[in-house]
Amino acid sequence: MDEKTKGAPEGCTHDCSSCQAACPSKDKSSFLASANALSDIKKVIAVVSGKGGVGKSLVTSMLAVNTRRQGFSTAILDADITGPSIPRIFALKAGVEGSDQGMFPVETKTGIRVMSVNLLLDKETTPVVWRGPVIAGTVKQFWTDVCWGDVDYMYVDMPPGTGDVPLTVFQSLPVDGIVVVTSPQDLVSMIVDKAVTMAQLMNIPVLGIVENYSYFECPDCHKRHEIYGHSHVEEAAAAHNLKVLAKIPIDPRLSALCDRGMLELMENDYLDAATDELLGKPETV
Ligand code: ADP
Repeated sequence: MDEKTKGAPEGCTHDCSSCQAACPSKDKSSFLASANALSDIKKVIAVVSGKGGVGKSLVTSMLAVNTRRQGFSTAILDADITGPSIPRIFALKAGVEGSDQGMFPVETKTGIRVMSVNLLLDKETTPVVWRGPVIAGTVKQFWTDVCWGDVDYMYVDMPPGTGDVPLTVFQSLPVDGIVVVTSPQDLVSMIVDKAVTMAQLMNIPVLGIVENYSYFECPDCHKRHEIYGHSHVEEAAAAHNLKVLAKIPIDPRLSALCDRGMLELMENDYLDAATDELLGKPETV
């Protein structure tokens, strides 16, 4: 048995890119792609969810807006290739420019740098019907072929779930930490268990959990209603010694701002403490 097969499961194909076995011979750094020569990205925070529609893109965007408001150079890499919603949230249209050195991200009104597959398509309604390896390859290219410039914080809107594509993306990008987005109707303990297991496999810390759609506050009487049921996020977080970074209510103003591409005008403090927590960690920037 040579070094490569030592500790590997029976039937090992040596294609570690889609295998979750924790082989001692597996070196995470061997899959990491080198960033573009014109990129200097200091921190990469991935935002994940168990399934689509829980508000992962909204949370990614709100964190980026808050980070930019604090004066940091901020970027969003939209790795949700089959459901890219970041350009819409910031009213960005196709029009990526490039040079011999690579593609340039598109900037939002406040200067958040964005790259998304929807910025490369003629029509935002064109579906991306690609197989997993092509999708993962595209995300990798967003890292290697995009001239991001100096970035203090890059948020990655990850593909939902813990399947092959998110796994390959995690192996390709040097992610410093993960934020998990859940909703009260999720099987939250299972989602958190899966995310934590995946993070452990990748050796990446989970920075905390954001619960979305936690409640709706009546604008007249200010009573809070748990529309999607009672939250179990605190128990799920405690089981893994994680922090609940925020609980975001259902707020029609948020969806209206997203639909109009004007999220940068948001006036709420839902993720203020969460942003401080993420940016204030001693090991960040
Ligand atoms: P995901 O990225 O998880 O698929 P999105 O962030 O695209 O989900 O959100 C799905 C839809 O729900 C979007 O139209 C978004 O504007 C809306 N939405 C998400 N969170 C909220 C919220 N807290 N209040 C109101 N609308 C929300």
